[in-house]
Amino acid sequence: MKQLIFAANWKLHLGPDGARQFLEAFSQHYDSVADREVWFFPAAVSLRTVAQSIQGHDYMKAGAQNVFGEPKGAFTGELSVPMAQEAGAQAALVGHSERRHVFGETDAETGKKVRAVLEGGLVPLLCVGEKLEEREAGGTLAVVQRQLGVLDGLSVTDLGQIVVAYEPVWAIGTGKTATPSDAAEVHAAIRKWFVDKGVAADEVSILYGGSVKPTNVASLVSEPDVDGVLVGGASLDPEMWATIASVDID
Ligand code: PEP
Repeated sequence: MKQLIFAANWKLHLGPDGARQFLEAFSQHYDSVADREVWFFPAAVSLRTVAQSIQGHDYMKAGAQNVFGEPKGAFTGELSVPMAQEAGAQAALVGHSERRHVFGETDAETGKKVRAVLEGGLVPLLCVGEKLEEREAGGTLAVVQRQLGVLDGLSVTDLGQIVVAYEPVWAIGTGKTATPSDAAEVHAAIRKWFVDKGVAADEVSILYGGSVKPTNVASLVSEPDVDGVLVGGASLDPEMWATIASVDID
């Protein structure tokens, strides 16, 4: 059975000590649920601590928030996929909206990172999503399809490794959430994109992200094409994150 994925993006919060304390508190509030995995994307400096703290709990994974497209070299300040893996990462976020819109990462850079993550044997969690003006202009699906276009040329096997997070930019950290039916429409289009490339529909995991909270998680994850969530702000409180990750789904 395909596992739901509840992924926490801690952004620029929680150094190694904070991460360790968080996971101790989280384990007091969370009992594993059979149908799902819980993934943590800490700051790079906290990766090893998180990986060590979750050791022995196969339903939890650690991942890098960002990686560079080259494995090594004169790239001061960057994190390579092999280094992230050595620190315990099993996955990496690629193309998060803050990377695209705060740091100006292009589709081409995003595509290069996806390939580097696949080559390094980690799971790429590719984030896509439209800005408010793009939604208002009716361009949501075109934007998402353009962002998925960086995957063109990958083999069906590689495509089957990729997890996608649909994160409308206007919903990230704003308190505004896509309605479950808006999210469902985009998720269905993303799944169709993969199916058209030859990937089995149930092999593709598509998460929703954007102001997910304990109060809205059930209605989002109950949509048939929503295979989990990627959560920023609400994943920084261990009790709240445990509540979100424990949600009952009909
Ligand atoms: C995110 O950082 O990916 C995110 C969805 O943030 P938030 O949950 O705070 O909107």
